[in-house]
Amino acid sequence: MAITTEARINPSMNGKTKETRVKTYQNFIAGKWCDSESGETFENRNPADTTDLIGTFPLSTVGDVDRAVASVKKAFEWWRKVPAPEKGHMFFKLAELLRERKERYSFDMTREMGKPIFETRGDVQEVIDTVDYAIGESRRMFGHTVPSELPNKFNMTIRFPIGVAGLITPWNFPMAIPSWKTVPALACGNTFVIKPAQITPLSVNNLIEAFLDAGFPPEVLNVVHGSGSKVGNRLVEHPDTAIVSFTGSSAVGRQIGEVGGRMLKRISMELGGKNAQIVLNDADLEMAVDAAVWGGFGTTGQRCTATSRVIVEEGIHDKFVAAYIEATKKLKLGYGNDKGVTMGPASSEAQLKTDLSYIEIGKKEGATLAYGGKRAIGPGLDNGYFIEPTIFTGVKRDMRIAREEIFGPVVSILKVKDFKEAIDVCNDTEYGLSSAVFTKDINKAYVAFRDIECGLTYINASTIGAEAHMPFGGMKATGNGHREGGWEAYEFYSETKACYVDYSGTVQRAQIDNYV
Ligand code: NAP
Ligand code: MG
Repeated sequence: MAITTEARINPSMNGKTKETRVKTYQNFIAGKWCDSESGETFENRNPADTTDLIGTFPLSTVGDVDRAVASVKKAFEWWRKVPAPEKGHMFFKLAELLRERKERYSFDMTREMGKPIFETRGDVQEVIDTVDYAIGESRRMFGHTVPSELPNKFNMTIRFPIGVAGLITPWNFPMAIPSWKTVPALACGNTFVIKPAQITPLSVNNLIEAFLDAGFPPEVLNVVHGSGSKVGNRLVEHPDTAIVSFTGSSAVGRQIGEVGGRMLKRISMELGGKNAQIVLNDADLEMAVDAAVWGGFGTTGQRCTATSRVIVEEGIHDKFVAAYIEATKKLKLGYGNDKGVTMGPASSEAQLKTDLSYIEIGKKEGATLAYGGKRAIGPGLDNGYFIEPTIFTGVKRDMRIAREEIFGPVVSILKVKDFKEAIDVCNDTEYGLSSAVFTKDINKAYVAFRDIECGLTYINASTIGAEAHMPFGGMKATGNGHREGGWEAYEFYSETKACYVDYSGTVQRAQIDNYV
């Protein structure tokens, strides 16, 4: 069993009122589910109703991390030699199990982080897609053969497994992002220790449970729950984690980059964004509005690719704003496992506070609050971290709400005079993750591909909605140049080895013997 259950007093009630059964979840270290050596735990609560306690998870220590790393380091010695297609069979079984369990895992995810069930089904589906890709890739993992410059000599490259991967994940895609890391890491022959965000630990336990039930050897994968500053930091600093893959804020990414850089680790960082949707005069208005509602308020604006700015050409600006406000009014806030809900709460109190503080900043900066702007209250909302979808108009490019990542349902609309200015405003941010352009002009679409400084550019589609077999990641302060997803992830989780065989029977000297 992946979890243990025990009866005890719900700690949040101070022992006053009711006795409930609280599930106690564990770490998975050295092939076993176990508590932290600290004996301490933290709570996982439903952000749509904080009286709903999902369970407790171990608040782990540096010692727990060290035990996990030592265990997967040992397993790496034999896992690296297991033929990749044999790993592919395990991925096949994993995909089957995930399909069977999709509904249960989606329900759990909505309960722990708030996005509506149709979105969490998409999250689990992305895991399935990532695993499907691994089934195929386990029979490919191509190297190159190239001609040698010398006679009777053979040159090729092979993929070389690296070692222990320390994986640190955020809460907005509680299972999809962990799968982008764990799946290619294992497929390439590495072993891993993962630290999930404390807001969404259950989804990673569910993923680990599925790996184990699919027949992956327990020794190759470990999960250690706890804080970023303790558990996450130890994974970065541990001398035996050769790979560190981190998705989260740019502030934490900078610290990780410093430490990992000094230790010459292989580090992948997927960080913040300040994504823009550009709407040109010739855009299909209805589509542009739908996309901005989905991109701005889907996942309560808590996607790294969320549409945080809408840059609108002046000829269509007023019509767009009016239609955008009307469409936003139709969103239905509530607990995402309830029928008809289209927008969940902020995933934590801290995120709610950040959102509300940026709304105050926007007002003080002189932007016009055109819609929303308050904590959302009412039946079914009062125990959760709900916030109204919020739209600012008259936003100027130098305002903080136009430049800083908010990670909430707060959209800034900026009016521009033409396409050239739109691209200029779009690029005027330290980040470079996602972008979208609504136009019917094919020439402008290609100019956008050429000139927008982002890892993702969509034409006539929202800034959100990446596919698992395409490279995913951003430019500038959004990362350090690596990509997750698709074939590029396999390049990150393996090293290239150049192999030469000289069958000439003599010692040939490259660059010398062939030029005498
Ligand atoms: P975060 O605060 O940076 O946390 C991300 C993860 O790092 C969590 O597991 C966190 O642990 C851990 N962590 C915190 N401090 C750490 C440290 N000093 N050393 C090691 N690990 C540490 O980010 P978040 O608020 O959870 O997530 C939102 C951010 O993620 C946004 O900026 C968003 O843009 C970004 N994001 C980017 C992408 C992308 O692909 N580009 C995708 C999703 C999200 P605890 O929080 O549990 O303590
Ligand atoms: Mg939670």
